[in-house]
Amino acid sequence: MTETELEQAKLEWDTPLFLTALAQFDQALPHAEVPDKVAERLRYPERATMVSVPIRLDSGDWRVFPAYRVQHSSVLGPTKGGVRYDPHVNLGECAALAMWMTWKCALLRLPYGGAKGGIRCNPRELSQDELERLTRRYTSEMMPVLGPQEDIPAPDMATDEQTMAWMMDTYSMQKGYAVPEIVTGKPISIGGSVFRSEATGAGVVMVIEQACKRLGTPLQGQRCVVQGFGKVGAVAADALAERGAIVVAVSDVSGAVHVEDGLDLAELERWLERHRHHLSEYREADHLSNEEMLELPCDILVLAALEEQLTAENAPRVQTAMVVEGANGPTTLEADEILFERGIPVLPDVLANAGGVTVSYFEWVQDLGRLFWSREEIRSRLLEKMTDACDRVWAFAEQRGLTLRSAALVAGIHEVAGALEARGIYP
Ligand code: NAD
Repeated sequence: MTETELEQAKLEWDTPLFLTALAQFDQALPHAEVPDKVAERLRYPERATMVSVPIRLDSGDWRVFPAYRVQHSSVLGPTKGGVRYDPHVNLGECAALAMWMTWKCALLRLPYGGAKGGIRCNPRELSQDELERLTRRYTSEMMPVLGPQEDIPAPDMATDEQTMAWMMDTYSMQKGYAVPEIVTGKPISIGGSVFRSEATGAGVVMVIEQACKRLGTPLQGQRCVVQGFGKVGAVAADALAERGAIVVAVSDVSGAVHVEDGLDLAELERWLERHRHHLSEYREADHLSNEEMLELPCDILVLAALEEQLTAENAPRVQTAMVVEGANGPTTLEADEILFERGIPVLPDVLANAGGVTVSYFEWVQDLGRLFWSREEIRSRLLEKMTDACDRVWAFAEQRGLTLRSAALVAGIHEVAGALEARGIYP
């Protein structure tokens, strides 16, 4: 191809992150037994919606934010995926994350495809009222492509239960009746599920426990570092400590706190609750940058902040026995290869953080049936799903000599491709 042809062949969502998702897909294909025509279809998101969201600021001025929703595949059911508020959100990021959601749902055998959306904004610069107006207008702009049988949003970076409540209310007001099943991760008072808020972090630790069993190393006493102390990272850190692991460092956007003998997480959380400050202001620990923290000697490194954290540059210096991807896409392809050569297993995102979408599925099922389950019922169903997926991935990786990531992707892609082939192309 000439340079102009190459440029023309580029798609709107062809960003580095989407190309990473595509490269992983291509690497997995030879093992997933997917006919070329089916693979060709799955390389493209089904639909990518881009809108501009205007809001009235508290000052009376107006501001317009770019916003996105990408739906990768509806072959197995409605699409499902988070909505993030972040200054780096773009179409390619949403497309990559939507594609990973498709493989993740299929790997967990959930009747969903993948989607992802977001608003390019700095949520820390917006007041609660401005965030509410932003969320309601975003929902309203996306109404034509959302629906409990079409596409079901959930929380992601910088969005939470409150965001989902505003989305649910906006959608319901336009329909004229309450539609709790339009979003998951909403407050329990409006149809949310018990255990949903802890599900991703809890699932991360269920997978770590299963991996430890497979490797013959007890989780108790393992030294852990957790990047990101948000909805995923903080719960994962607590669950690790509950199981006797020693959490030596955690971080947020402001930097990392480190105590060689283990952090007192309960004390740290009380401090955060009281002061609502960043970790960099916490006085009862040593301080490191996020970059330095990733290179601390440890047994388990949990990445629960954002994508592209381990790269070709820092992967050779990482001193851990296991990397666990609580976040989506935190390890670049080059870093993945380096870790593989160094014999450091990576518990991949599509498996490790699938607890969130799994309990989201339980929430949607409960909403549709208007019948709610107990915390213990949900926890044990989640454990069953995560353990089953982990065992399948582990066995497949051993059988075929693949990395855990390739095995997880192959398993997910294989399920979706089989369904697409059976359905065929309409008309
Ligand atoms: P969150 O906003 O609750 O927490 C994110 C954390 O990362 C915060 O502590 C934040 O300060 C920190 N952070 C932000 N920028 C950073 C930076 N540059 N360096 C270091 N830390 C930084 O978000 P979350 O829901 O915990 O999501 C974290 C990751 O997990 C995302 O990749 C998300 O896609 C993924 N994930 C979340 C869920 C879920 O249920 N929440 C499910 C699956 C995957």
